[in-house]
Amino acid sequence: LADRLQSTMKKITGKGKVSEQDVKEMTREVRLALLEADVNFKVVKDLIKRIRERAVGQEVMESLTPGQQVIKVVKEELTALMGGEQSKIAVADRPPTVIMMVGLQGAGKTTTTGKLANHLRKNHNRTPLLAACDIYRPAAIDQLETLGQQLSMPVFSKGTDANPVDIATEAIEQAKAEHNDYVIIDTAGRLHVDNDLMDELEQIKTAVKPDEIFLVVDAMTGQDAVNVADSFNEQLDISGVVLTKLDGDTRGGAALSIKAVTDKPIKFAGTGEKLDGLEAFHPERMASRILGMGDVLSLIEKAQTNVDEKQAKELEEKMRTMSFTFDDFLEQMGQVKSMGPLEDLMAMIPGANKMKGLKNAQLDEKQLSHVEAIIQSMTKKERQDPSIMNASRKKRIAKGSGTSVSQVNRLLKQFNEMKKMMKQMTGMQKGKKGKSGMK
Ligand code: GDP
Ligand code: MG
Repeated sequence: LADRLQSTMKKITGKGKVSEQDVKEMTREVRLALLEADVNFKVVKDLIKRIRERAVGQEVMESLTPGQQVIKVVKEELTALMGGEQSKIAVADRPPTVIMMVGLQGAGKTTTTGKLANHLRKNHNRTPLLAACDIYRPAAIDQLETLGQQLSMPVFSKGTDANPVDIATEAIEQAKAEHNDYVIIDTAGRLHVDNDLMDELEQIKTAVKPDEIFLVVDAMTGQDAVNVADSFNEQLDISGVVLTKLDGDTRGGAALSIKAVTDKPIKFAGTGEKLDGLEAFHPERMASRILGMGDVLSLIEKAQTNVDEKQAKELEEKMRTMSFTFDDFLEQMGQVKSMGPLEDLMAMIPGANKMKGLKNAQLDEKQLSHVEAIIQSMTKKERQDPSIMNASRKKRIAKGSGTSVSQVNRLLKQFNEMKKMMKQMTGMQKGKKGKSGMK
């Protein structure tokens, strides 16, 4: 189904004219995809209505690229539903700032407590104290203490016999005494929302007056996550949501409904079991993910900010005059690298996240550094005019770069293919209208 949506999207993107029938077809697919991604029914209905209205409106129909415009509308509406990016964390007038973590058992509260502490220290230079208020499972305290050790951060605990309210209160006293500017309270969860749990959390809340109450929800639980968020918010008036386990293969449709249902922002996303697996939540990326489009737009934006416009213009000129050389190639690679780890980039490309063996992918980091080494081993003349390459030159380059002749050959071949492709592209731009070669 997601594939069908993708192909519908692709079809419409290229259209120079979009009919109401096209819009209908596309929104039908979007609707199905959203329902399948576990988005709340009512949320979907309202959303589709807004998309349809905008898609058949002037904004789209009178634009030069209506197909792309429709996709943009879909993305904008989805993004708007999730609100802006809001990864800010409150700062109390008088320290410590108190953050209370709540949520069901297994949602990721304890893990996220550690991740948040790590984030606060790393990015905000803070010195958090962690408070172990989950007294129902002895292992829960151990788990937090282990995290504290890993982070070299203090953990306040009083074992399993103490009252969670007292633990939280005393933790804050200790933080004051020891000058910890944040206290993150890890609380207990249950398998389901129940009154005992809510009572206890309310008591802690009343006692410590937290500056933030973060509800931790598991993105994999889909529609349930939305109901959970609704109940916790009713009872505790949470200040934000952390959506965990987004590193899994869930589409994360819950993200859409959570904001719509609770009107509270999703502040962070959990993206792994490790302590650095926490990211600011990006509504726009989430919108793409839900639609199964990958992070195309983010990728484009990233590329745009990194590739300096002037350089791009020069490159275009070179492509046109066919004077593109290995030196340019090297420069291009530098730019690609400055965009961040290739794996991150690949993950943003639609379909690429489905490729299990990213490590074997063409754009392997290691291969890139090989390519770099090969080009660096070429003489100036060879870089400018690869056609002079002969067997002995290739051998020398392979030796100089610590690669093999066949690797050098492969690069030369790729380079020539690239040039050929550029020729076609620039040919098309000139309006010759050759075959684009796209399937
Ligand atoms: P708690 O019961 O709410 O405190 O949940 P825990 O913090 O103990 O987490 C439950 C399980 O989920 C643990 O195995 C964690 O490693 C795992 N977990 C938590 N957050 C994430 C995440 O963002 N990604 C992944 N893959 N696993 C997570
Ligand atoms: Mg826990």
